[in-house]
Amino acid sequence: MDKFYITTPIYYASGKPHIGHAFSLIYADVLARWQKKKGKNVFFTAGTDEHGAKIAQKAEDAKINPQEFVDELADIYTDTWHALGIEYSDFIRTTSARHKKSAQEFFKKIDEAGDIYEGEYEGLYCVGCENFVLERNLKDGLCPDHKTVPQKIKEKNFFFNLKKYLPEVKEKIIKGEIKISPESRKNETLSIIESNIGDFSVTRESVKWGIPFLRSDLSAGEQTIYVWAEALVNYLTALDYPNGEKFKIFWPPDLQVIGAEINKFHTVFWPALLLAAKLPLPREIFIHGLFTIDGQKISKTIGNVIDPLDLVEKFGADATRYLLLSQFPAAEHGDVKAEEFVAKYNSDLANGAGNLLERSCKMISDYRGGKIKSEIKIDGGVEKIITEAEEKYEKSLNERNLFEALDAVFHIIKTLDVYINEKKPWELNKKEDKKSQDNLDEILATLLDGIKKVSDLLEPFMPAKIKQAKDYIAKLENGEIKEGDRLGLFPRM
Ligand SMILES: [Zn+2]
Repeated sequence: MDKFYITTPIYYASGKPHIGHAFSLIYADVLARWQKKKGKNVFFTAGTDEHGAKIAQKAEDAKINPQEFVDELADIYTDTWHALGIEYSDFIRTTSARHKKSAQEFFKKIDEAGDIYEGEYEGLYCVGCENFVLERNLKDGLCPDHKTVPQKIKEKNFFFNLKKYLPEVKEKIIKGEIKISPESRKNETLSIIESNIGDFSVTRESVKWGIPFLRSDLSAGEQTIYVWAEALVNYLTALDYPNGEKFKIFWPPDLQVIGAEINKFHTVFWPALLLAAKLPLPREIFIHGLFTIDGQKISKTIGNVIDPLDLVEKFGADATRYLLLSQFPAAEHGDVKAEEFVAKYNSDLANGAGNLLERSCKMISDYRGGKIKSEIKIDGGVEKIITEAEEKYEKSLNERNLFEALDAVFHIIKTLDVYINEKKPWELNKKEDKKSQDNLDEILATLLDGIKKVSDLLEPFMPAKIKQAKDYIAKLENGEIKEGDRLGLFPRM
């Protein structure tokens, strides 16, 4: 059986997840479910990034120890992903013993290969970013994102010999050995590589809340592994690197889904670290765009942060998944029109997909007791449109374009709606002549075929609702639908 290893970013456990985080998870979940449907052996990971100065600071402010602080947040993350129907295989926490082990092992390997050297770092550090910032990028002496004064840091660090590996990373990207999609992001990566980027420091002397960096000439805890570098190793931890059975089966990742803000770490640093550790590189990294909400950047100050759990409570898990994925093609940045969610829910789900399934099942049950003979031919025109839409769906998912894939399914839904309204099966049902009845048979067979295909295509996107629909269609075909039964997938709001 072909394997498919798909990963999502592990989020920094300094605050609750918002819909920007949920987006990556939903995106990957759809692709993972689609691969499973195709018969692949899928391994799908999520997690939380739990070390670093920012978390230590937040825990101190809350007067609890950092472990308690991240325990609470990790629970909120897993609860949120469960509520959204995210079916990951494993959830990696970077404060777990197994992650500590694999992170130490990974950096030891790179160190032993001679690619880590001691140096001194002197510069400005923003705790909010958990990253060094350059003087020229500050605004009035403040980090532009966090509006705080960065700390002046002068400390002993260990650096990774990034420069040595950049030509090979570049070559592999150009040859497509690592596919970076979309093309615009690939160009961004190549320009980062060409920008004379320096080696990067992989340890911290001043940060105690982290995984000790092991080296014979260091005392325990003298240096911790830099949180960003350590977090990347989670994709290995998930497979019990270095000796796990899963590691043998699933490495390397077939697809890593990330957001545009972490592009540099994943498409430049990560492949270079893997080359140094002599590991095969990910086959594909898909970078989705970031979004604004109703035209504004997601921000606590603006007050437009949306908790995914609030959406789930209002619309249900599957509709929330749909509402987020159907906003814009994720290859680019886009806007989420949260103000229009109710209208979109009603038009696409209640009156669209939900209503089509409902009324098709009802007519098939009322006019034929659910029994449609398999030898009845379906409408050729509709069949052709469905086949074309299925091809577009497949192509779109291969290109990681979930927006277009949904568009293809909704084209089938609209086609079937128009078909019903034109053919008026309720009028044919009143006529008893053979021609009318044969005609009705063809219409009902076409609808049954159509709603089964729509269900199949929507399944990765809306798994719980589609399970409900498939169970109902099975009941229908067994002649078990009774007067007054309803599928009731998406009640109008
Ligand atoms: Zn900052």
